Amino acid sequence: MSLGLFRLDDRVAIVTGGGTGIGKAIALAFAEAGAHVVVGSRKIEHLEPVAQAIRERSRRSLALVVDVRNVNQVEQLVERTVAEFGKIDILVNNAGASFLAPVEGITPNGWNTVVGINLTGVFLCSKAAGPHMIKQQRGVIINIASIAGEHGSVLMAPYAAAKAGVMNFTKTLALAWARHGIRVNAIAPGPILTEGFEGVLGMSGGEGKEISRRVAESVAMGRWGRPEEVAYPALLLASDASSYMTGTTIFVDGGPSPRH
Ligand code: NAP
Repeated sequence: MSLGLFRLDDRVAIVTGGGTGIGKAIALAFAEAGAHVVVGSRKIEHLEPVAQAIRERSRRSLALVVDVRNVNQVEQLVERTVAEFGKIDILVNNAGASFLAPVEGITPNGWNTVVGINLTGVFLCSKAAGPHMIKQQRGVIINIASIAGEHGSVLMAPYAAAKAGVMNFTKTLALAWARHGIRVNAIAPGPILTEGFEGVLGMSGGEGKEISRRVAESVAMGRWGRPEEVAYPALLLASDASSYMTGTTIFVDGGPSPRH
């Protein structure tokens, strides 16, 4: 057995939404494991500090502005990565967003926005990276889903539906590209304390604290997860240590919730 299988030396990875939260933790973990990492999202101010931190770890990095709903920008993200590094080994479809509303209060525009970012974005990025991976006959795609995709979510219906779609699309892509040496897996996190989640819950005030406590209580382990606790399973899926895994979703959720 070689622990070297867990390393990503000189692999080239793209992490969407890599400037904050879970994506940032994944980008930094990949760099520590030896990969060069391209981070992409809408706001350059999120990306630059992470690209800098990757360079400080003696790996190469690019910070590229991309909206994962925009097919031209997504193609640019992949083309610039290949132009700069000559290949793409790993794609992490991590970009995601949501808002809280009951089903009866969701507009078609709100629905389409959330599905566009969380599901269509995964399709567009995979479609752009796929031909390069097929040509290489090698590649790894990791999709960040959510336990909401398994259990549903009363206040985040489009998000839950999109994440269920992500888990299903993961299986389809795995089947479609397995014979090309491409593995496609997903991670479904439970509650992870990130900037994004703090924003959704508006956790600054007293009510936010109470919601935060209730969320922790709903987890079997009784606490929120940390972004690194998603990054390490992502490292497993990105590395050759998971060479016989494809089409699966790993739940990183502190145990089955008593609520479900
Ligand atoms: P986060 O910090 O808000 O990260 C989301 C990232 O996505 C941001 O960096 C954001 O960057 C990027 N993004 C949003 N819309 C985008 C778009 N249209 N195009 C490109 N990038 C976009 O939240 P997080 O918690 O780390 O979430 C990361 C992933 O984990 C998401 O897929 C989320 O659904 C999933 N997840 C999180 C939890 C949790 O408890 N935190 C639980 C389950 C699943 P810009 O603003 O710069 O675009």
